[in-house]
Amino acid sequence: MTMTYAWLWTLLAFVLTWMVLHLIKMKKAATEDVEAEAEERSDGATDVIIVGAGVAGASLAYALAKDGRRVHVIERDLKEPQRFMGELMQAGGRFMLAQLGLEDCLEEIDAQEAKSLAIYKDGKHATLPFPDDKKFPHEPVGRLLRNGRLVQRLRQKAASLSNVQLEEGMAKSLIEENGVVKGVTYKNSAGEETTAFAPLTVVCDGCYSNLRRSLVDNSEEVLSYMVGYVTKNSRLEDPHSLHLIFSKPLVCVIYQITSDEVRCVAEVPADSIPSIANGEMSTFLKKSMAPQIPATGNLREIFLKGIEEGLPEIKSTATKSMSARLCDKRGVIVLGDAFNMRHPIIASGMMVALSDICILRNLLRPLPNLGNTKKVSDIVKSFYIIRKPMSATVNTLASIFSQVLVATTDEAREGMRQGCFNYLARGDFKTAGLMTILGGMNPHPLTLVLHLVAITLTSMGHLLSPFPSPVRFWHSLRLFAWALQMLGAHLVTNAARFRRTYIAK
Ligand SMILES: Cc1cc2nc3c(=O)[nH]c(=O)nc-3n(C[C@H](O)[C@H](O)[C@H](O)COP(=O)(O)OP(=O)(O)OC[C@H]3O[C@@H](n4cnc5c(N)ncnc54)[C@H](O)[C@@H]3O)c2cc1C
Repeated sequence: MTMTYAWLWTLLAFVLTWMVLHLIKMKKAATEDVEAEAEERSDGATDVIIVGAGVAGASLAYALAKDGRRVHVIERDLKEPQRFMGELMQAGGRFMLAQLGLEDCLEEIDAQEAKSLAIYKDGKHATLPFPDDKKFPHEPVGRLLRNGRLVQRLRQKAASLSNVQLEEGMAKSLIEENGVVKGVTYKNSAGEETTAFAPLTVVCDGCYSNLRRSLVDNSEEVLSYMVGYVTKNSRLEDPHSLHLIFSKPLVCVIYQITSDEVRCVAEVPADSIPSIANGEMSTFLKKSMAPQIPATGNLREIFLKGIEEGLPEIKSTATKSMSARLCDKRGVIVLGDAFNMRHPIIASGMMVALSDICILRNLLRPLPNLGNTKKVSDIVKSFYIIRKPMSATVNTLASIFSQVLVATTDEAREGMRQGCFNYLARGDFKTAGLMTILGGMNPHPLTLVLHLVAITLTSMGHLLSPFPSPVRFWHSLRLFAWALQMLGAHLVTNAARFRRTYIAK
């Protein structure tokens, strides 16, 4: 009997505790909704502030303004950027631009068609066209271009809408109240410190973002440097391919960016970058890299011509990687490179940023206004899930390619580098499949994993041929372990982020 009473009291206590907790939760949610509704009613002059008018910020401004939002864009420099990054818009990126109504921004900038990838290693060469994938609803051709020209076209198109205010100004900090971002402080073109307020602020200030640091605890990793220059008055024999040379220690890339300008790029390790100022860089390019550029066609000739002519114009840009992390604060979203970066070896940063904008725009569309910070915050969580197939595929491929293409004296790693070349060069349906992923036409993580497994097996086969020996077997086992480690690291990072975001919240 005593036992039964004890059980009943325990059960009653449990039920009462649950009811009290449930009531507290409901009250909290109701308070939040009331607060949100109150915010929703507030009607300022701006719906969204966008900091940064690069590819991401300018495209987002246009997309949101087309949906009727009043957008205030603050960009620190409205002149045409003279940067060396974002010069290949993949076919997948063009499709995103078309979805946003921005594809005409690729016109009138002397952009070149990118129809294939040409790869070179140890005197061997293969050209791999971007295949015509029936499931991809757009032309399977990318565009090679001057990034600054594209950015200017996107800015002009956004600014042509009456509900977009594009202002030159340097954002300094975010204005926050009780964990909710209300706007930004910025220095305007007259040099005065001023403020702007809106229910939603979107931070698109690129790979050197300052504002991001006050929002998310996420740091970028510098992987290497891309050193590049433009060879003027030149035309490649094959101007519609991106030429990727498997050079040592890291890759070289050559491509046509306008009808008479060719971009030459060499990747150099982060810890041993020669000085551009004292001429060490041009000596390094001439003596170490140029002899590795194939003499066939006019690739080497154009590479050398640019070094001779372009000494003051050699630029270096850090390649960075930073995984996406959800921002807990309300009233703010981080996008573009400020949100997520990957090694540029597969030239897909703009495509991911544009894909993110398409997803976010569609999710925000049903909201009559953006003042309900709770609803916006819920939307951002969905956005984080929906973007995964594209971002995880691109980030994983970029990370693995950038590691595999590093030349070393380690036979296992070298076997993987050769296996990767062999896999791409054979030009069969598997190569075509991988090319649809590279072009952003089929961003499916599982398909990518299958290709990576196939590349690993091809590489192991290469190491074991012409006949297996204990040493070769050992190297192929190490190669297998390395491949697992690279893939595993990405899967674990993505799974951990997913768990932290959804299961912990
Ligand atoms: C070497 C290299 C090569 C690359 N090649 C390719 C490629 O071929 N294809 C591709 O798709 N991607 C490529 N990428 C990646 C691509 O360039 C980026 O993903 C893309 O440019 C990101 O766009 P964004 O708008 O986020 O940033 P950005 O284009 O950098 O724009 C940020 C904007 O914010 C402004 N800004 C910064 N701070 C402030 C501030 N405080 N206040 C106001 N404005 C501010 C800047 O002036 C700038 O206009 C490459 C990257 C690198 C490093």
